[in-house]
Amino acid sequence: MKNSLITTIFFSEILKGMALTFKTLFVRPVTRRYPKVKPVVAPGYRGLHALAKDENGKMKCVGCGLCGAYCPSQCIHIYTAEGEDNKKIVERYEIDVLRCVFCGFCVEACPFGAISLSEHYEYSNYSRESFYMTKEKLLDNWDKYFPGEKGKRYYQDFWRPMSEDFKAHEGQAMFSKVPDSIKAGGKK
Ligand code: SF4
Ligand code: SF4
Repeated sequence: MKNSLITTIFFSEILKGMALTFKTLFVRPVTRRYPKVKPVVAPGYRGLHALAKDENGKMKCVGCGLCGAYCPSQCIHIYTAEGEDNKKIVERYEIDVLRCVFCGFCVEACPFGAISLSEHYEYSNYSRESFYMTKEKLLDNWDKYFPGEKGKRYYQDFWRPMSEDFKAHEGQAMFSKVPDSIKAGGKK
């Protein structure tokens, strides 16, 4: 009570604020002149999505739907059909980027390394449509943002299962072929 009375009478909070302002008056500003000066993006940054292609340029996605099931924003929509040879065809694969929270769960969930998050972050636009990624746009993104070695290394560098670091929680559901040493919570 006494303290708050002193604070009120002497405006100590205002004085503290002014002292801080004065201290920073002569410090060199750190404002970045974006977009003239681009920020350095950390490797593995989670930017715009891309659908990965294999070495023959074929889409890796098989339309299993796991990414969509895991997505907390429910912004992935997959439409499949049956092909002539009874194989599943991914007719449409769409992501509503405006709803995405860039958690990366889709990438983690995909058993085929087929969906990725590129380092591309400059995609602001005035139309909602431009943020609705179709299969074609997502495949183009792979060519644009994961050229050559970058695409090859992406999953290995940022998403490979770190089995030596992985420890199971008690009662956790686990793939049956996981070594017993890991199931027990130890190292491989
Ligand atoms: S990054 Fe997260 S929110 Fe975005 S599409 Fe993937 S799972 Fe959904
Ligand atoms: S991106 Fe991966 S998880 Fe999603 S539907 Fe395709 S293969 Fe399945």
